[in-house]
Amino acid sequence: MGIVVQKYGGSSVADATSVKRVAQRIVATKKAGHDVVVVVSAMGDTTDELIDLANEVSPLPPARELDMLLTAGERISMAVLAMAIGNLGQEARSFTGSQAGVITDAEHGKAKIIDVTPGRIEKAIAEGAIAIVAGFQGVSQTTKDITTLGRGGSDTTAVALAAALHADVCEIYSDVDGIFTADPRIVPDARQIPQISYEETLEMAANGAKILHLRCVEYARRNDMPIHVRSSFSDKPGTWVLKAEDVTKDPTMEQAIISGVAHDRSEAKITVVGVPDQVGYAAAILKALGDAQINIDMIVQNVSAAATALTDISFTLPRADGQTAMTALARLKDQVGFERLQYDDSVGKVSIIGAGMRSAPGITARFFQALADANVNIAMISTSEIRISVVVAESQVENAVRAAHSAFDLGTDEVEAVVYGGTGR
Ligand code: ASP
Ligand code: MG
Repeated sequence: MGIVVQKYGGSSVADATSVKRVAQRIVATKKAGHDVVVVVSAMGDTTDELIDLANEVSPLPPARELDMLLTAGERISMAVLAMAIGNLGQEARSFTGSQAGVITDAEHGKAKIIDVTPGRIEKAIAEGAIAIVAGFQGVSQTTKDITTLGRGGSDTTAVALAAALHADVCEIYSDVDGIFTADPRIVPDARQIPQISYEETLEMAANGAKILHLRCVEYARRNDMPIHVRSSFSDKPGTWVLKAEDVTKDPTMEQAIISGVAHDRSEAKITVVGVPDQVGYAAAILKALGDAQINIDMIVQNVSAAATALTDISFTLPRADGQTAMTALARLKDQVGFERLQYDDSVGKVSIIGAGMRSAPGITARFFQALADANVNIAMISTSEIRISVVVAESQVENAVRAAHSAFDLGTDEVEAVVYGGTGR
């Protein structure tokens, strides 16, 4: 039997009891005949606590030192887990990201993996040991400094290692039973999805679904690495994320057009009011945002009013970048000659996602009718081939998610979604 990579998130290794439970599961996998490589996150809320600590001693912690500090979280869990496995009579060896051969660029806090050279991991498993690797970290190829991959980055470590080791599967364990048709805390009858394509999972992750790190799904798609998302608190099968061709259609699912509903409350909306409707103005506005390193999401430009020849341009962006964007745009006011800026951060985005919508007409109408029936006003719209997103008032997000979910018959009365642990911090 081949190599299995298992990744355990922070809530699965939150305390000694959880670590011992996870150790049992790992040992069981090993005893079933697999070579096992484990990737761990920091215990519980450790990463947040370390960030708080850094902010207490410095208003602007240097990125290099912050990375050094944060990687300590995963080093604690890897060593503790190796001890717990040892106590069950199996040999386990822990490795930092650097020792495991995770080579990154030098972008502290959001480093990208550029190569994985897992020689020490291969040696450990060849010698019969279980290898435990600290997630979310690597070492810069150029500076040789320790880097982190960005919040939630352990998923990416796991998939990258699985690909480099040619593993059979990358299992990602968290505190829910897999990927659901919507957030079960909002939609109690949300259904667990047995199998889903990389493309749909990417759209879900990019549009607010918190189950997998976006970069991890991109990595898996590029390397065709199957991901099995499941709970470390139960033995139920979870959700398989696969190539579209490999997804078997769920026969119990009447409505195969839409796979799920995602929502996102992390964005804000800016409107530039009264922009002269002339060549080059939209470009000037977007260039200012690009220069400020701001990633914008949806953009809408209205038809200009005939009388004034002025138009409004609205766009959404991460709330965290709101202030920077407003400052950058304010500097353009005289040059572009717009009237004013409006900032709104009580917005949310609701998206329906499904590969089946490529060939099914009327999906947008059905979605918008459901929103209308639920009295939800649409502020902005954007689409991809397999997604329709709307921006609505933040207070209407849950209402809109439930309306969309039932309009496409995504609910179930059989399965009950369980969120086992975690503080959701
Ligand atoms: N511990 C890191 C975080 O909380 C990485 C991870 O959990 O994947 O963001
Ligand atoms: Mg974490």
